[in-house]
Amino acid sequence: MIFTGVSRTAWILFAVTFWTRMFFITGGYHRYFSHKAYKTSRVFQFILGYGGCTAAQKGPLWWAGHHRIHHRFADTINDPHTPRKGFWWSHAGWILSDDTTSAPLRSVKDFEKFPELRFISKHDWIAPWSLAVVCTLIGGWSGLLIGFVLSTVVLWHATFLINSLAHVFGSRRFETEDTSRNNALLAILTMGEGWHNNHHKAAYLARQGTKWWEIDFTWYVLFVLEKLHIIWGVKRPRTSSRTKVGPSAEVIDDSTEFVDEALAQAVLETESAALVHSGQAQNSTEP
Ligand SMILES: [Zn+2]
Ligand SMILES: [Zn+2]
Repeated sequence: MIFTGVSRTAWILFAVTFWTRMFFITGGYHRYFSHKAYKTSRVFQFILGYGGCTAAQKGPLWWAGHHRIHHRFADTINDPHTPRKGFWWSHAGWILSDDTTSAPLRSVKDFEKFPELRFISKHDWIAPWSLAVVCTLIGGWSGLLIGFVLSTVVLWHATFLINSLAHVFGSRRFETEDTSRNNALLAILTMGEGWHNNHHKAAYLARQGTKWWEIDFTWYVLFVLEKLHIIWGVKRPRTSSRTKVGPSAEVIDDSTEFVDEALAQAVLETESAALVHSGQAQNSTEP
């Protein structure tokens, strides 16, 4: 116990809601909705969407739409959280800005067609509030404050660090056109998302830590879900002959190769939409 009056239950809730929701963001919002790194049933798709929504980072359509634009225009002025506008902008300023209030639906047409996803995206307060109620019922006021509020705030900043620091601090294995980095500390904190340079090299892969020592807890969970037949069609790096049966997979395909037709089409439409948007922005700043 750190604070008097805060129960052990509240800290257990904190840990459970932090790590569970971290997975829903990394394995759900990111690797599934943004990059379609695997396939799943409509029911589990909804669970991923609702679970991600409990993290209070807006709905799956908003999150995935902006993230696809990030990959298409990484580090340019069209990147929603471009590091060119400074640390605070890339960390949280872009989310709070009026420019990004609405979901860029043109870049997520492949998921916009599901009414249940449109519903939780439109009413994106329902999921976090439902979790807040559950935490209060389990742990009382300290359950609410530590198990939900504090956990949510820490989760926000842990997630946002990928947009800010993972394009600034770390090493670069691949000469990608952006400034993405691999950072082991961020990888531990975010269940594998810190291997961000690997990710920008081949964004469609379900596995981002490709060396055996690159800890990627999101991948381990996805691996188990695949064994349980809850997900399938998992896009994994090609393994070299020496590591075929081992845990290491060191060969990464070219990131520009889109393996999913619908996603490729969505990205192309995102590009034209963003170019129109940037043209309007330039015009509007003209005297
Ligand atoms: Zn990035
Ligand atoms: Zn990504």
